[in-house]
Amino acid sequence: MSGIDNLPPLRDVIARHDLRAKKSLGQNFLLDLNLTAKIARQAGDLSACDVLEIGPGPGGLTRGLLAEGARRVLAIEKDPRALPALAEIAAAYPGRLEVIEGDALAIDPLAHLRPPIRIVANLPYNVGTELLIRWLTPEVWPPFWESLTLMFQKEVAERITAQPGGKAYGRLAVLAQWRSDARVVMSLPPEAFVPAPKVHSAVVHITALNGPRFPADPAILSQIVASAFNQRRKMLRASLRGVAPQIEDLLRTAAIPPTARAEEIGLEAFCTLARAVEAQRKGG
Ligand code: SAM
Repeated sequence: MSGIDNLPPLRDVIARHDLRAKKSLGQNFLLDLNLTAKIARQAGDLSACDVLEIGPGPGGLTRGLLAEGARRVLAIEKDPRALPALAEIAAAYPGRLEVIEGDALAIDPLAHLRPPIRIVANLPYNVGTELLIRWLTPEVWPPFWESLTLMFQKEVAERITAQPGGKAYGRLAVLAQWRSDARVVMSLPPEAFVPAPKVHSAVVHITALNGPRFPADPAILSQIVASAFNQRRKMLRASLRGVAPQIEDLLRTAAIPPTARAEEIGLEAFCTLARAVEAQRKGG
């Protein structure tokens, strides 16, 4: 027994199902169930929520989520070796865990989830950023999720929550903070995982706002931010040349010095510039 439930300790589960970690699948497992329960608690009261978990692996975080009272968990796992271990958890929590085998990048989970929905995951590092960008850029806002509670490498967590003026500030910070609140809620050393990765990790909690902090067309804002940070060492009048004719005039309209660089520009100014570009494109 493991302390948070009546299931066997994760080390036994891993040994019994021969779940040796595979690097190609970004497998670094959390074996301390008190820690996984603590991560689950960062997502708030889950008793009235469906939780989407990506990459449950042997199920440490899944068990944390269920023990902490999640109404239902839908878990998407690419590694078929993990399915028998997850089936044991499903049997211990009847009707509360559904597992889909497959690639989270290719599966649309929505048909399997009932709102309100929160996403909680110790993400595989190789697809984590891509999934986050998808969740932050849906076609309609508010998105299908209320909050995201996600484990990342510390460096990625810093990029998500960064403020202007430093190297960490970039596209991810602007995307995450434009329509959400994002903060680091836990830091974990490499030894918290088996096998231990080379880097430190952090849990980021992101809550969706009802609407954007500052109005802007999402596609135009996204284009500006991508162009500005793809050439972040260049002055904006150069890096944004392809975004609109007379970009210098538009930068001045937005009160941005054309000689400034992307990392000096805050969210509000990027949004003002996006509106100026939109007005020019509409012929205004
Ligand atoms: N949640 C477990 C834990 O905390 O111990 C495992 C986390 S491990 C960092 C990442 C998990 O994601 C692994 O179980 C891996 O097999 C799975 N995974 C990797 N790529 C995936 C993908 N594209 N879709 C779904 N799961 C994936």
